[in-house]
Parts: sequence; structure tokens; C-alpha cells
Amino acid sequence: MNKKVDYLIVGQGLAGSILALTLMKGGKSVVIVDDAKGSTASKVAAGLFNPIVFKRLVKSWLADELLPFMNTFYPEMEILLGTKFYFSKQILKPFSEEQERTLWTKKTEEPVGKYLSKDIYTEDMNGIVYNPLGISEVLHTGNLDTISFLNSFNEYLRKKNLFVEEKFDFAQVQLLENSVSYKEFVAGKIIFCEGYKATENPFFKWLPFKLTKGETITIKLQKEYLIPMDIVINKAVFILPLGDNTYKVGATYEWENLTEIPTEKGRSELVEKLQKVLKIPFEIIDQQAGIRPTVNDRRPLIGLHPKYPQIAIFNGLGTKGVMLAPFFADQFFGFLENSSPLHNEVNIARFKF
Ligand SMILES: Cc1cc2nc3c(=O)[nH]c(=O)nc-3n(C[C@H](O)[C@H](O)[C@H](O)COP(=O)(O)OP(=O)(O)OC[C@H]3O[C@@H](n4cnc5c(N)ncnc54)[C@H](O)[C@@H]3O)c2cc1C
Repeated sequence: MNKKVDYLIVGQGLAGSILALTLMKGGKSVVIVDDAKGSTASKVAAGLFNPIVFKRLVKSWLADELLPFMNTFYPEMEILLGTKFYFSKQILKPFSEEQERTLWTKKTEEPVGKYLSKDIYTEDMNGIVYNPLGISEVLHTGNLDTISFLNSFNEYLRKKNLFVEEKFDFAQVQLLENSVSYKEFVAGKIIFCEGYKATENPFFKWLPFKLTKGETITIKLQKEYLIPMDIVINKAVFILPLGDNTYKVGATYEWENLTEIPTEKGRSELVEKLQKVLKIPFEIIDQQAGIRPTVNDRRPLIGLHPKYPQIAIFNGLGTKGVMLAPFFADQFFGFLENSSPLHNEVNIARFKF
């Protein structure tokens, strides 16, 4: 028998999960198909959110709009899913050059200054961090524990029988007049949230993805060198405490050899950078790799297929999935359900089909 559903979503990474939660919150019925395999970007991500682009010390795109939105969305989802996964952190930035510190001080007086602490500390965090030029702090930052978020939502979906664990089979898609069928499901729309795998999707592989592989290592420090859980150090690499004196360190950016397999090159790049930050020895206990769904123009890819309006995409979250997804899932909901506008810079209509 046919199962009717408003939206069939393909992919339960950050994009698919956050879009599904937003649609459900708005009273829509949703089923998610995911093959639950591989080292996906969402599973590997540190989940950090940071309103600053460090290189130029400018606000990251739409930071003022995205942050308040996230600060409502994730805590609401923590209540719904009964799990804590959204954390406020201090991102500490040790300066690498005199020039960098001068620029920081200047920027604290500009609008971006609301995200930059005026204080510059000279301490070396109990002998852990090289700090010849001072450390300052980015304000309003934190991280989403992506694994805990994805797992708790997956459990929620499975309990309600709304999760199908399989590789999506494109041969089973049938376009109907105002809907689309896939196996036993008849959906108002299918929304593809497949991350980088969209490059293999027959409906959307024409979109200009420019994928970026990223690698991380997990290190262990000796007990006496504890970095507090609410501190993230960021200097060429981030060091994110995971608990039990282990830390995630990342990430690399690589545009070739796009596989989910960790490499010796990625590991040595991270080790080299880490040795310039940490004064103390560390042991590597894990290494991971994932592929970010980055786009030529660095903006998300959201919208309806130009020929088949029953087929849609929510993707291209690039390096900033945690910040972008809640805001644009909400905007996409408005677009799908109330015909409200979709930001020109994210709408896939900006590209020629
Ligand atoms: C090393 C690294 C560090 C990062 N750090 C951060 C960070 O600190 N902060 C931040 O905001 N972002 C970070 N990112 C980026 C972030 O991970 C992405 O923006 C985000 O995870 C993209 O989510 P997604 O759901 O679009 O893609 P994915 O995570 O790739 O999810 C896609 C899902 O679709 C499923 N799928 C695909 N095709 C099919 C199919 N045919 N059938 C069934 N299922 C399918 C996959 O199994 C997967 O579960 C990082 C990324 C990497 C690689």
C-alpha cells in the first residue's frame, strides 16, 4: 500500500536533519532515507560556529542573522530530542604576528568588534600554549556535538518509523502530476540533502560543486595538561576538547584526491601546525576524513529543480553547516509552504540549467 508523506528527504546529515526538524516543527510529515554509511562531513565535523573569518577579521556571511536563529533552534531541539548537544565555548586566538594583533585591536572598534574581545592575555595556559604575542577571544562562539545531535535525531526517527536505511535508488523515482513516488512512498516532494554525493545525483549533478576534503586527528594529552572543556584554541588549527583529555584537531582543506580516506599528508600537515601551538607532547589516537559540500561561489544550493518542481535540493552548506542550516531551513520552509522569497544568493535558480 502507498504511504503518503509531505516530504521524502534523502540524507540525514546536518542538512537533512535540520530541514526535517524544521518541516516537522511546521506540522509537515517527513520520512528520511539514508544509507547510514561512510565517514560523512557531518560526522567528522567539529561542529564549531564562529562569526569571524580569521584571515581578514571580518564578519562571516550573515553572521548577525544566523547566530540569534541558531541560539533558538538548537536549544529547542535539545528539548525535543532530550539530549544536550549545543555548547557555548570560548574560542581563544593566539596571535601569530605583531600585525595580526594590531589589526585585531583596530577591528574591536568596528562593527565586527561585537564578536572580538578587547582583552589580550599574556598567559600560556599553564605552560601548554606558545604565546609570545598574546591571546584574545572570539565572542558568541561554541559548537554542536554533531554525532550526539545526529544520533539522537536518528533514534527519534526510528522510534516513529520515519527512517529508511538504504541507499537511495534513483531508478525507483516516478514523477507524478503534482507529486513523486519512490517505492511505497508518494511524496509531495523529494528533497535531496546528500552532501557531496549530490555530484552523482542525476537531477542535480549540473550544479557547480567544488568539493573540499577535510581531515582531523584526535590527540590525547597527559593528565596534568588539561585544557578546560569550554575552551577551543585556534591558531592555524583548532583544538577542541572532547573530554577524557582527548582533543579533536583540524582541519585540512584539500581539493584533490576526494575520498573519505585519511592520508599521511593530512596527518603530517596537522601535526606540523599543532607543534607550533602546543608546547607539550601529544599522542595521536584517531584520524578522520570527510568531504565538505562546498560550492564555486561559496553559497548554499537550495531550491526546486528547474524542470520538476516535485524535486528539490538543500545542500552546499560548505564549511559552515552548523550556522547556515537552521536559518536557511526555516527560509526554505517559508518558500515551499507559503511562497515566501528565498535569498537570491542561495537559490539554485542563480545557475543555468
Ligand atoms: C573535517 C571537517 C570539519 C568540519 N568542521 C566544521 C565545523 O567545525 N563547523 C561547521 O559548521 N561545519 C564544519 N564542517 C562542514 C560540515 O560538516 C558540513 O557543512 C555539513 O556537515 C554538510 O552536511 P550535509 O548534510 O549537507 O552533508 P553530509 O554530512 O555529507 O550528509 C549527507 C548524508 O546523505 C547521505 N546520503 C548521500 N547520498 C545518499 C544516497 N544516495 N542514499 C542514501 N543516503 C545518502 C549520507 O550518508 C549522509 O548521511 C566540517 C567538515 C569537515 C569535513
